[in-house]
Amino acid sequence: MLPARLVPVPALADNYIWLLADDEGAAIVVDPGEAAPVERVLRRDGLALQAILLTHHHGDHIGGAAELAAASGAPVYAPRDPRIGLDARRVGDGECVVLEAPALDLDVLEVPGHTATHIAFFGNGVLFSGDTLFSVGCGRLFEGTPAQMLASLDRLAALPGDTLLCCGHEYTVANCAFAIGQEPGNAALAERAAQAANQRAAGQATVPVTLDVERATNPFLRIDAPELAMALGQGERVARFAELRRRKDDFRMPAR
Ligand code: ZN
Ligand code: FE
Repeated sequence: MLPARLVPVPALADNYIWLLADDEGAAIVVDPGEAAPVERVLRRDGLALQAILLTHHHGDHIGGAAELAAASGAPVYAPRDPRIGLDARRVGDGECVVLEAPALDLDVLEVPGHTATHIAFFGNGVLFSGDTLFSVGCGRLFEGTPAQMLASLDRLAALPGDTLLCCGHEYTVANCAFAIGQEPGNAALAERAAQAANQRAAGQATVPVTLDVERATNPFLRIDAPELAMALGQGERVARFAELRRRKDDFRMPAR
């Protein structure tokens, strides 16, 4: 069952803190890089924080967790990584986060690549992907190998197509600009780029978005698509993925 309310709370430069709440006002947040924007929404809407979920140790995803936990008493769920120096329930692959309110049953998936201990949460029709899968992109490989990241993305891409992708950053417009250069014949991608540009111009988030749309538009999920495979040199899958990620690392948005 989809949650009653699922909203990205903008934070820091381009982070999203995901807030999910039921009709009774029980809420969770994912990756609170800072506390203030979450506290504002909780106060404004009369929500009670019931859990704090963390996908990886980077400061822009955990910076507000201690303050929110202290203020609310909500438990923190985090990957097994000593760099997250918080009192937390540690979770890994095959484990679940089960909550009564809001009623949630989220599977934990270990998805190394961006960091070695990055996890994602999937359930109730929603995927919290942190910095592993972005809309029309993926995270940088700070700690993992291309093979690890590709396996992680393959896993996320295999989830049901109507799953709502909730990622950690608003990067979609720049990601589309890069992706179109790699796969100019992709009509769904052109459509997504136009939609994302309109959403941003209207001050809206470009996410959540379904995994169906991601599979049709995200080049990092499409390295087997003929046009892209050709452009990437037709080597082994991992080599094609590594080449695509390398190109993205070098990509700069053209000046407007
Ligand atoms: Zn990160
Ligand atoms: Fe991040």
